[in-house]
Amino acid sequence: MPSTCLLWMRRDLRLHDNPALHRARAEFDVVIPVFILDDALLHGRYASSPRAQFLFGCLRALDQELHARGCGLVLRRGAPEHELAKLAEQTGAGAVFWTSDVSPYALRRDRAVTAALQERGVRAVPNTGTYARDVSKVRKDDGEMYTVFTPYWKAWERLAARDIYGAPRAMAPLPRGLDRGELPGGVRAPGGTLGAPVCEPGEAAGREALTRWLDGPVDRYGDRHDTLAGGTSVLSPYLRWGCLSARECELRARRRGTPGADAWVRQLAWRDFYASVLLEHPENVRREFQPKFRSLSWHEDADALDAWKRGETGFPIVDAGMRQLAATGWMHNRARMVVGSFLTKDLHLDWRAGEQHFAALLLDGEPAQNNGNWQWIASTGVDPAPYFRRIFNPILQQRKFDPDGAYVRRWVPELAAVPDNRLAEPWTMTEAEQRDARCAIGLDYPAPIVDHADERKRAMDRYREASAGVA
Ligand SMILES: Cc1cc2nc3c(=O)[nH]c(=O)nc-3n(C[C@H](O)[C@H](O)[C@H](O)COP(=O)(O)OP(=O)(O)OC[C@H]3O[C@@H](n4cnc5c(N)ncnc54)[C@H](O)[C@@H]3O)c2cc1C
Repeated sequence: MPSTCLLWMRRDLRLHDNPALHRARAEFDVVIPVFILDDALLHGRYASSPRAQFLFGCLRALDQELHARGCGLVLRRGAPEHELAKLAEQTGAGAVFWTSDVSPYALRRDRAVTAALQERGVRAVPNTGTYARDVSKVRKDDGEMYTVFTPYWKAWERLAARDIYGAPRAMAPLPRGLDRGELPGGVRAPGGTLGAPVCEPGEAAGREALTRWLDGPVDRYGDRHDTLAGGTSVLSPYLRWGCLSARECELRARRRGTPGADAWVRQLAWRDFYASVLLEHPENVRREFQPKFRSLSWHEDADALDAWKRGETGFPIVDAGMRQLAATGWMHNRARMVVGSFLTKDLHLDWRAGEQHFAALLLDGEPAQNNGNWQWIASTGVDPAPYFRRIFNPILQQRKFDPDGAYVRRWVPELAAVPDNRLAEPWTMTEAEQRDARCAIGLDYPAPIVDHADERKRAMDRYREASAGVA
């Protein structure tokens, strides 16, 4: 009688370098890969229709890869603890393997699954594999977790990392007669449908993109990563869903051995850093990490929030970023910082509103990175710096990081004919210039909804008051 186990796949949707798959195959004759469509995620706090569509594409691709190896993907819908217990019983599985995650919901869910399996005498086997390191192990000498990136990064570099595993060539077939289940056509969730998703879902597409990136562009990462019209890998959706292994990305970049590749590896460590922060501080999903900023006063202004979401603030770099997000489900990191600073320090709106909007649209959206970065730009999180260092001037940021206007002109086409020297402040165009550029400010493109210099002062006051305990 062949021994059987389940491989519960969640955000490790790959066959290459998947430690849970590797271990399951080493211990059992038959491995049944299963994905559970969990309504708590599909319709919960971070629900996103674009991300669900991307996920379904990844699942279809995974099924094909498994099929090509003689196996297939089983789908179930419901509460994981019930579905896994039921499937384990049906198939006589002796264990369930999975790849660990760090969000508070994931930890709760995995505890419930472990209890349900143990009750039935089925082993529950979590594995590492979501991050480049075991993020629970990157600690200070006294066992504390880091809250500042640079020392974290040094400890991360020192920590021994695991080897990587190839993809299996063949797998045992699924048990005969097992109901495979099926994907729903779509999901009713915030975010709508993207016009032009930034990348194709699935492991094969991710691996091709990684190879293209490491074959050359990565070498210029050090000096081009802040260039808005390009310069980064755009691999985040694949990392988010585990179509790519972060550890494999790291190893292959290290083999490249250029300064650009080293700088890129450091960004993978930021991803691990924010995961370890959420693991240690799950309460960050609801409140500011820094107690002194929990009393910050946030404005309520639905019109301003809407203008920000629609990309109609009158600040071209902000609008370009927000429109890129709405069209593709992705935004350049520099633009994320600029729009985040604008929301929290020019509009004085709560970072949680920004986090929520990003969560609804980003294909790479996930609590650890989204929350960590939003708190970073709102100056309320870990890796602290004085708040005035993270008040970004949208005009200067545009001049510096989109000097030829390629990014802004692509995403804000009504500014296409605005001359370079006016593009960061189109409202300074004379009437004749507006006519020549076929862009009347206030008609074809909005006038700025705030004055940055004034709002900067207001933001400084708000943060100063909160840190002094006055607000
Ligand atoms: C307000 C805000 C919200 C964000 N929300 C998310 C999110 O929900 N999910 C997400 O993956 N990233 C998030 N980021 C981080 C970053 O913007 C994206 O990871 C990056 O833009 C992805 O593009 P890339 O793959 O081309 O990155 P590259 O520059 O090529 O970097 C390689 C990889 O390193 C990781 N990385 C890079 N920068 C960061 C960072 N600052 N923090 C954590 N990991 C990083 C990503 O996995 C990325 O794919 C956010 C940043 C900000 C400022």
